[in-house]
Amino acid sequence: MVQKPIRLADRVLQVPPSPTLAVNAKAKALKAAGEDILNFSVGEPDFDTPEHIREAGKKAIDEGQTRYTAVPGIPELREAVAMRCKADHGWDYSPEQIQICCGGKHGLYNIFQALLNHGDEVLIPAPYWVSYPPMVQLADGVPVEVPLDEAANFDLNPTTLVAKASEKTRAIFLNSPSNPAGSVFSHEALKAVAAMALERGWLVVSDDIYETITYMDGKLPHILDVEPRLKEQTVVLNGVSKAFAMTGWRIGWCAGPAHLIKAMNKVQSQSTSNCSTPAQYAALAALIGPQDFPSEMKKAFLPRRDFFVRDLESIEGVSCVNPSGAFYVFPNFSAYYGKSFKGKVLNNSVDMADYFLEEAKVASVPGAAFGADAFVRFSFATSMAVIEEGMARIKKALAALEG
Ligand SMILES: *Cc1c(COP(=O)(O)O)cnc(C)c1O
Repeated sequence: MVQKPIRLADRVLQVPPSPTLAVNAKAKALKAAGEDILNFSVGEPDFDTPEHIREAGKKAIDEGQTRYTAVPGIPELREAVAMRCKADHGWDYSPEQIQICCGGKHGLYNIFQALLNHGDEVLIPAPYWVSYPPMVQLADGVPVEVPLDEAANFDLNPTTLVAKASEKTRAIFLNSPSNPAGSVFSHEALKAVAAMALERGWLVVSDDIYETITYMDGKLPHILDVEPRLKEQTVVLNGVSKAFAMTGWRIGWCAGPAHLIKAMNKVQSQSTSNCSTPAQYAALAALIGPQDFPSEMKKAFLPRRDFFVRDLESIEGVSCVNPSGAFYVFPNFSAYYGKSFKGKVLNNSVDMADYFLEEAKVASVPGAAFGADAFVRFSFATSMAVIEEGMARIKKALAALEG
């Protein structure tokens, strides 16, 4: 008898395989085989968690903070999140309006599990963070892409938004500064989103994970500042991963309407329960301690960004929007699609990233993963020396293309 493999859920099967997996697996294999791979694919700061935060984590363990906590997080941490919302933005949240989750990613997952019914649509401006569409799909929702224009610095176009909205729209993602492009939504674009969200009763999911890493003059526009009346229809998502180089600690939070947070707590209580107790104490130290760490990182990121963008823009046929925040560049290589190397034609971003990996020994992430196939993402959370060497290799590889 031939045994059939166990059948999987439709919910999981509808999520397409990640286009990054193949490139990642190949990069790992090449590295293991001793190849000198320069890695630009990583989505986390190249800094260690600051010492006072590490110490707070260790102290929590030594003092016996090793048991379950309340599902939505320790009260001190929820209060600290409320304090930062007030101090940094002037927003008033009570602790009942705050959930501590296992990273910002988990918060997003909780939101959609608590919000969506079968067939509900969620608007996702593209390029988008890879996880957004699958999270909507895993909650039985339908992701609807709203394409953003490179020529408009990936700002939201209200006309496109209207065209993509429908009776079934329940929510919209905002991510500013964004991963992968580092782009920022303008005050005008947010105003248009706010008007539609108010009129049609959408939930606004504002992923603010990069808010402390910006290179712009003046204040970062935010939907809640543009339209304070949206507060009962907005969930603000944030965490310590990017701002305090704490990706592995897995602490994020959501702030939003109390009834939604309560429903999200129900989801969390039946999945992960509270997130790691010592990590909550470390995050508490991050939020109530000195707030200058993100600026320290920015000092390192800024010259790397400037070099990267200038060098990419100097290549014939390549364009690159200057990122206003985060630590990624997202150049457009589509002028090179259709060209070939040793008879193999490069047709899209996956081929391009694959070519960079094989011929230039440079690991990157194809834009297809972010819903924007003309582009490839490179992280500049790596040293200037690596960026200089990487750019030299990329230029050489592009020059070697034929056709
Ligand atoms: C890194 C990231 C997050 C959250 O990461 P966590 O480590 O889960 O907190 C959320 N959104 C975007 C766009 C990110 O790049």
